[in-house]
Amino acid sequence: MPAQDSVTPGVFNFRGRAVGRSLPGPSLYGSGRMFGTRKFGRARQPQLVGDGVVQLGTDLVNWFLVGTNGGVVVVDTGLPGYDADLDNGLALLDRDRGAVEAIVLTHSHSDHSGSAESLRRALDVPVYVHEAEAEAVRTAAAVGKTGGSQLPYLRHPHAWRLLAHFREAGGAAAVGEVVAYADGQELPGGLRAVRTDGHTPGHCVLHQRERGQLFAGDHLCTWNPLTGRRGVEILPRPLNVSSEAMLEALDRIEQLETRVLLFGHGEPWAGSAVEAVTAARAAGVT
Ligand SMILES: [Zn+2]
Repeated sequence: MPAQDSVTPGVFNFRGRAVGRSLPGPSLYGSGRMFGTRKFGRARQPQLVGDGVVQLGTDLVNWFLVGTNGGVVVVDTGLPGYDADLDNGLALLDRDRGAVEAIVLTHSHSDHSGSAESLRRALDVPVYVHEAEAEAVRTAAAVGKTGGSQLPYLRHPHAWRLLAHFREAGGAAAVGEVVAYADGQELPGGLRAVRTDGHTPGHCVLHQRERGQLFAGDHLCTWNPLTGRRGVEILPRPLNVSSEAMLEALDRIEQLETRVLLFGHGEPWAGSAVEAVTAARAAGVT
């Protein structure tokens, strides 16, 4: 019999199979796209990364649970299948599924909205996204033409692995019901939407002013998913509608009082928004 005690939930064995998981309730592994059978994204243990924030996902893509006074808000949802970690994440906040109030998306890309429909159905909570991308989430459509070819980036092994991981995860399901939010709107979890154009047509960062935390979505990252570079920068050009618009929108981010920034790609970053923006401007467009 395998030594179960030595196995941590969420960690894969050398054959890439999920081991040591035992989730209560309906299985979120279904549809033949089991999280544990993936090869390209390395699963990571959910971890507390900020004030009442749990980061979940893989070494390639993050999503978050945000503990509020009494409840929990899901910020982004990872690719399809990532929600298999939901209960492990909630346990870190000493909460259960009944505490989840809402799902808030920074934008419509499938590595942020991929598990939204599955979570919406399992939890019976609203899914919020900016009004410019509500239709894309409702129909699982792509938004905007991106700013360049990914081809030159394929010399980087990171780019291969990311694209392979997207492929193995599959596309996001259309979300049955969507609540559209506007720039500046107050959202569940003490989050305020701040529109930051450029990555997608309606991308927003989500500012939790009271705790000085900023969910930067895919406007900024600390790990460039195409080149593998570490450090704060805007997402690389082939993934954006307009990198120039993103640089301009840094003006909005720098005004947000922040102690911790959290990203769709890369590790959390302790520092002010001003420092993060300074680093991103120095890195420029990649
Ligand atoms: Zn994105």
